[in-house]
Amino acid sequence: MDELVRWLGEQLDADEQAARKAANVCGCHPLAASWAFRDGDEPTDGRILVVDDPHPQRKRKISRRWNATYDGLFMAEHIVRHDPARVLREVEAKRRILTAYENYDQDAPELDVPYSVIQLLALPYEGRPGYREQWRP
Ligand SMILES: [Zn+2]
Repeated sequence: MDELVRWLGEQLDADEQAARKAANVCGCHPLAASWAFRDGDEPTDGRILVVDDPHPQRKRKISRRWNATYDGLFMAEHIVRHDPARVLREVEAKRRILTAYENYDQDAPELDVPYSVIQLLALPYEGRPGYREQWRP
């Protein structure tokens, strides 16, 4: 296996592990991986919520107020856009790209994924240990 493909696969594994831990909010229910942000002035507003929370009465660490600041608001909006459900979908999509790259079929060149795509997929992970300058597109 290509070294870049192997290394990128490890980064995706780490992303998946972190997302699964974040989505495992109670341990007694299936993963609740989708988060939403509720803004407003009521005590139950200004919070990141687990969508379809299996224990809505329990106070969750991610359900803290955001101090009614724009900074907090923008951070909360960013966090819910990168919730575990999205990360897991992205990991799956990237794995499928890696599989398509490795399973190059000369009879179906239109399905081929060029090496440059793999290099671009790896670029956001350049700060992680093991990234090689020769992989930089
Ligand atoms: Zn539960």
